[in-house]
Amino acid sequence: STAAAESYTKVLQGRYDLGRVLGRGASSKVYHACDVRSGVYVAVKAVRKPHHPCSPEDAAAARRSVERELAALRRVQGHPHVVRLLDVLASRSTVYLVLDLARGGSVQSALEDRGRSEEPAACRLFGQLVSALEHAHARGVFHRDVKPENLLLDERGGLKLTDFGLCAFANRQLGADGLTATACGSPAYVAPEILLKKRYDPVKADVWSCGVVLFSLTAGYLPFNDGNLMGMYRKICSGKFRCPKWFSSELRSLIGRMLDPEPDRRIKVGEILSHPWLQQDGMSIPVPV
Ligand code: ADP
Ligand code: MG
Repeated sequence: STAAAESYTKVLQGRYDLGRVLGRGASSKVYHACDVRSGVYVAVKAVRKPHHPCSPEDAAAARRSVERELAALRRVQGHPHVVRLLDVLASRSTVYLVLDLARGGSVQSALEDRGRSEEPAACRLFGQLVSALEHAHARGVFHRDVKPENLLLDERGGLKLTDFGLCAFANRQLGADGLTATACGSPAYVAPEILLKKRYDPVKADVWSCGVVLFSLTAGYLPFNDGNLMGMYRKICSGKFRCPKWFSSELRSLIGRMLDPEPDRRIKVGEILSHPWLQQDGMSIPVPV
């Protein structure tokens, strides 16, 4: 709307020139932008605060969610495979997160444009993803929405984890037992224990989602899919899937360990990087800075 356009032009005036839309979500729009002072291109994620009609509870929940995304981003800065937060601005209606521009787009669009990856290329990306998640987990931030749309690629094809909008914090969203019951995530990537409405361990749920990502990267399609949502959920809960014939035995083994419907049997984040599939030639595990 014109009103919204005016509010951002005021706050961003003389700071960031917004260009085309790079992506959008339920309550956000991400713009290609230029930092006016330095001439550097950046991404600006505009997260709308709720407007009426909306209950005070909804408004408070939405405000907490923006604050949580920002707090999480700040907590996990300083890793080579986590998106960098450069600046934050806010108007009455919108919070603007200024992020490093990922010139390679999202892993989702790469999958759509170029199809599946060969195992060595997937291995490199996957190692970077696991390293970023380990870093976030070690800082008490659990992503809960790992999927190809939330994995960005820089100009050299390096992975950047982004979108902490659904994350959980240790000691806040989690109980004393480290478990939570908030169902979230995207249907195809969501762990069975979340669908079964159990209290779940968000670390283990992130491992499941990473397993779905790894399968999709190397197969070119989802491990659990169906014409309708209930059918998909049934397949996820059954934990049954078939690997394509071109998967190596090491890859089958790792995916089987990640997509184990029993969370307590599932491979731990810390064990993934030492799995034989990740010991391929040419694979280098990034060292956190
Ligand atoms: P939402 O919380 O609405 O899902 P995201 O942060 O996931 O928002 O961003 C939505 C989309 O915008 C991403 O899937 C990606 O395609 C694009 N995008 C987000 N951040 C960047 C960035 N820093 N550089 C380039 N594209 C981005
Ligand atoms: Mg997203």
